[in-house]
Amino acid sequence: MSTIEAESKATASPDYVRTSLAAAMVLGLAPGRFYRDVRLHCINLLLTYPDGCRANCAYCGLARARPGSYDDKSFIRVDWPTLSTDLVVERMARYRSDVKRICLSMVTHPYAYQDSLEVIRRIRERVDAPISALIAPNLFDRARLEELHALDVSNIGIGLDAAGERVFGRTRGRGIGGPLSWSQYWDVVEAARAIYGPYRVNCHLVVGIGETDREITDIIFRLKERQVAAYLFCFYPEADSSMARRQRPPLVRYRRVQLAKHLIEHNGLQPGQIRYNSKERIVALDAPPDVLERAIAGGIPFMTDGCPGEDGLLACTRPFGSYRPGEPFRDYPFRPEPDDTARIRKELRLPDLGQA
Ligand code: SF4
Repeated sequence: MSTIEAESKATASPDYVRTSLAAAMVLGLAPGRFYRDVRLHCINLLLTYPDGCRANCAYCGLARARPGSYDDKSFIRVDWPTLSTDLVVERMARYRSDVKRICLSMVTHPYAYQDSLEVIRRIRERVDAPISALIAPNLFDRARLEELHALDVSNIGIGLDAAGERVFGRTRGRGIGGPLSWSQYWDVVEAARAIYGPYRVNCHLVVGIGETDREITDIIFRLKERQVAAYLFCFYPEADSSMARRQRPPLVRYRRVQLAKHLIEHNGLQPGQIRYNSKERIVALDAPPDVLERAIAGGIPFMTDGCPGEDGLLACTRPFGSYRPGEPFRDYPFRPEPDDTARIRKELRLPDLGQA
């Protein structure tokens, strides 16, 4: 029996956590090899409860209304085996040189906040790697954000996911019978930014859950103004979720949003330099040709967005979070190589973008 089979029972945090399968591989708790020898340097952990998450987000594999026991539910489409917290901590200490960041994700559950504190304390007793907390904002106020900060949590992640109030309401709030509120999420973004400082807070944004490109770029501008990082994810339907039948966004759309985001964040692209069609899809980016060329050839706009490790390099690469092995990468968990950038150029359909 593998470690995972022995440990995966109906078990609860703080004594148990779920880890991404990739993280379990890094810790020697699951067999397997990384595709193209990508190494993962972030150990992504998720709180776990037999009665699951109380929220009901339309696209999420953990949603309350999605059939199946919580232990068997996937999260961002990959398996998250359940393991004892002490075993995971012991392995993180043993493989410390491979662990450049640890991320603890909460779920909406009455015990999630207190249990997060306990899991973080156990980690801190043995492992000194930087810690991110991907928080459930509806469980947070300023005092709790400060308490995490005092526990040496360096970065706060907020799964805003929806690019604006309209889509948030439909996919996470009243529109789906969910308990979450955009204004409360946004208040926590502002409070976290005030406490943690520039670019120590990030918002996850999912492309393809009903928003327009203009709504996405608007929120990227809004986050940049506040020095809050925007991390893109590409929607991939979870079986049996409310959005199981929704198509993924076309690759050309995702690539253009990735490129626009990079140019906004690194090259000062202004709202008036992004042109949209009647459906609010990006049809042109009015950046100087050499700037565009450098961005595309460098490959960085198309890499996974995530928290850095202690060396300042990308640590949280979440391989296969939004595509399956063998499919084109939606985001690259490594710097794209020349063959990859040749493919990306085709995917962007540069002539149509007016930049051939
Ligand atoms: S980017 Fe990764 S490490 Fe950072 S908050 Fe999000 S999931 Fe956690």
